[in-house]
Amino acid sequence: MIIAVVLPLPLDKTFHYSVPAALTGVVVPGMRVRVPFGPRTMIGFVTGFAENTGLLILRNILGIVDAEAVVTPDLLALAHWMAAQYLCSTGEALATIVPLSLRAPVRPRVVSPPAPLTVCEPSAAPVLTPAQLSAVESITASLSRPGGETFLLNGITASGKTEVYLAVMRAALAAGRQTIFLVPEISLTPQFITLVQKRFPGIVGVWHSQLSDGEKYRTWEAARTGAISMIVGARSAIFAPFKKLGVIVIDEEHESTYKQEQKPAYHTRDVAIERARHTGAVIILGSATPSLETYYAAKSGQYRLLELAERIDKKPLPLVRIVDLNRLRQKAKVLSSEIVEALTKTLARREQAIVFINRRGFAPSIACQDCGEVWQCPRCSVSLVYHRATEDLRCHYCEYHAGWPGICPQCKSTNISIFGVGTQKVEHELKHLFPQGKVMRLDRDTASKKGVYQQAYHDFKNEEVDILLGTQIVTKGFDFPRVTLVAVVDADTALYVPNFRAAERTFQLITQVAGRCGRSDLGGEVIIQSRHAVHYALAAASRHDYKGFYALELPFRREMNYPPFSHLVNFLIRGANEEKVEAAAKMVAEAVKTAKDAGGLGIDILGPAQAAHYKLHNKFRWQIVIKGTRPDAVHIAREIKKIKMPSGILTSIDIDPMDVI
Ligand code: ADP
Ligand code: ZN
Ligand code: ZN
Repeated sequence: MIIAVVLPLPLDKTFHYSVPAALTGVVVPGMRVRVPFGPRTMIGFVTGFAENTGLLILRNILGIVDAEAVVTPDLLALAHWMAAQYLCSTGEALATIVPLSLRAPVRPRVVSPPAPLTVCEPSAAPVLTPAQLSAVESITASLSRPGGETFLLNGITASGKTEVYLAVMRAALAAGRQTIFLVPEISLTPQFITLVQKRFPGIVGVWHSQLSDGEKYRTWEAARTGAISMIVGARSAIFAPFKKLGVIVIDEEHESTYKQEQKPAYHTRDVAIERARHTGAVIILGSATPSLETYYAAKSGQYRLLELAERIDKKPLPLVRIVDLNRLRQKAKVLSSEIVEALTKTLARREQAIVFINRRGFAPSIACQDCGEVWQCPRCSVSLVYHRATEDLRCHYCEYHAGWPGICPQCKSTNISIFGVGTQKVEHELKHLFPQGKVMRLDRDTASKKGVYQQAYHDFKNEEVDILLGTQIVTKGFDFPRVTLVAVVDADTALYVPNFRAAERTFQLITQVAGRCGRSDLGGEVIIQSRHAVHYALAAASRHDYKGFYALELPFRREMNYPPFSHLVNFLIRGANEEKVEAAAKMVAEAVKTAKDAGGLGIDILGPAQAAHYKLHNKFRWQIVIKGTRPDAVHIAREIKKIKMPSGILTSIDIDPMDVI
């Protein structure tokens, strides 16, 4: 018996092996096998059987990894599609779908729990509102139709999107179908996982990259064998091997974590749509602030648009005020009198506040007052951030850190100052202003330790914390009745980054964090500090006006030929030798122009240019950005991939990148 095998290597090739007599009949397509490859042993995926051409001497496989086929036909089709879309080999795509580490334990376990399940008290669903019911009915009606329809559930914050998902999942379960539920960041959703497990006791698995190999294997097997019917997880849960997939939910679909940055750089939304096409599953993309691409697709009839236009119980959205930071008299002050006053009143009423600043550390830059020298990471072309707790300067892109300089290396001055505001500085000021209030800071520096987020969530929920201060972590997931104030210390952090999504990101962040308050009869208020108070993204966010924002952003995207009107490809060329990188970038740009002319393609070419982050991790970075149709973009990417790069030059090709910096 001869089998065709693909390997997790960047080689678009199928290899043939013979199967020893003892394994003949055992090895089937979809199974993983151990094979010799040159001097190495590798794990490959059996894609089919082959004829003996008699031309080659075939090597025997060394053994099998799985007892049965683990790649279902629908996942194999998905791997072929991914290979074509994201310029990887089928073997690399399969290794993403079924991680190589996923293996039955060697030692037989004494007790074998069916799946890592938490036993919870079952809980009942509330009676759905007419708006929720109507959304559920539209989606469940589609569940029995083939083809896999995609819905955009555009519901404002606290409009009850979660209950819509759960009701659809229940309908799917009743029809014997399974659900994949994707969340942007699993560590920020413990309360949601508990809710799903309570609603569907015993049949919900959890999937994320922090699981041990054993846990992963058990959950994966439970999905494959039907022991569980639902998986809640981060983006890679999209590959869960359910056999009768019915529903794929992508909650907060606009979040950038749905884009995988490493090869294959897939977008979960696109993979979901492809998977649904084969399995007939319905997709629910949920968000109060959908990505422009998604809303545009819904508006143009590609997805079906469902709206939840009101909050549950018709609770009003909080009133938003914008404070113009340019008018702030004392420059050194971090918090305007408006925010201080509002916080004072909130604490006096024994209510709670969320304070948001999208920058960790104490101050985002330090400079010499006399000569203007700015301290940068020697490995990365970015400012070092001053951290007060550790009294040092840290790079937020690599591991570099250094002590406080004391003296300027350029002019020997000791007049060194910090500039700008980070979470630690706000924490310092809040503790100084409100010594009686309990302030808690939540950012990557504090929440990186296991259990910290859970504890913070618990303490805030139980009102042991009055003011929760933090980065993006505090903008999602909280649904607490006593939060009546949200303060945004600096709305401009994401506004002027060199990224075509800057306005969209800012609008999303502000709208999401504003949505954390006013969820009960106590009402709520939002105060936003900005130096660009008239910017349309802030104006629209202050009115909770997604459609208004969309109406202003779309013409800009059209005029600039940015998504959703084009697809981008980002070619990144990097290396330690500055001249070599520049030369390689110019060579690639020439090749792009040649391919464009040869194919008569209507693409725009930007660059070659130094990337906005010109140096990261001691590597210089150049980029070329292409705008065009998706087939043209993929065609060009394929041509570039063929170019042989000089040694010491690394390249990456990102199709539909989230960022181009
Ligand atoms: P969203 O995800 O749209 O921001 P949530 O799903 O968090 O909104 O719902 C907001 C709040 O309303 C939650 O506390 C939820 O329990 C509650 N809720 C949702 N649907 C109903 C309903 N039909 N009846 C009563 N309360 C509901
Ligand atoms: Zn100086
Ligand atoms: Zn660095």
